[in-house]
Amino acid sequence: MKRVLVLDSSAIMNGYNPLLVTNYRQIITVDALNEILKDEERSLVEYAIEIKRLEKAAPKPATIMKVEEVARKTNDRKYLSNSDISTLALALDLIEEGCKPVVLTDDFSMQNVAKVLGIEYAPIATQGIRRVINWKLYCPACGRKYNNENVNECKICGTKLKRKPKL
Ligand SMILES: [Zn+2]
Repeated sequence: MKRVLVLDSSAIMNGYNPLLVTNYRQIITVDALNEILKDEERSLVEYAIEIKRLEKAAPKPATIMKVEEVARKTNDRKYLSNSDISTLALALDLIEEGCKPVVLTDDFSMQNVAKVLGIEYAPIATQGIRRVINWKLYCPACGRKYNNENVNECKICGTKLKRKPKL
């Protein structure tokens, strides 16, 4: 069976770097993606999606309800965000599709519900793939690259610079 790493938003916030993982399929839910608000983390994830290192997907509504039901039974529901629930639901959908998902999370409530649902999980700390990123600044309008981290706007055309991780 094909192993798929399912990232929750805390994985990214705790330093997981999807760019460093090339041997597994990696997937994140749209809800988890929406929880990632820090510029640096968003840029990382969006870039990983852009280069197809990371996929984004949404679970089936019926699966979300199933996960919520289990989470209520184990008294974990109040500790879980909607994005946590959708991450677990996506993992269940993947099992149904014949994949072997592993949810990467340090959250004990998520791990607990995953256990009840028969979903494999792993803490991020053990993955040894924490973020070490070197950024490159570039102008999205004219493409000029900048090395100085203190520059905010393109000196040629005045556009606000963006950054993407150096691979
Ligand atoms: Zn420019």
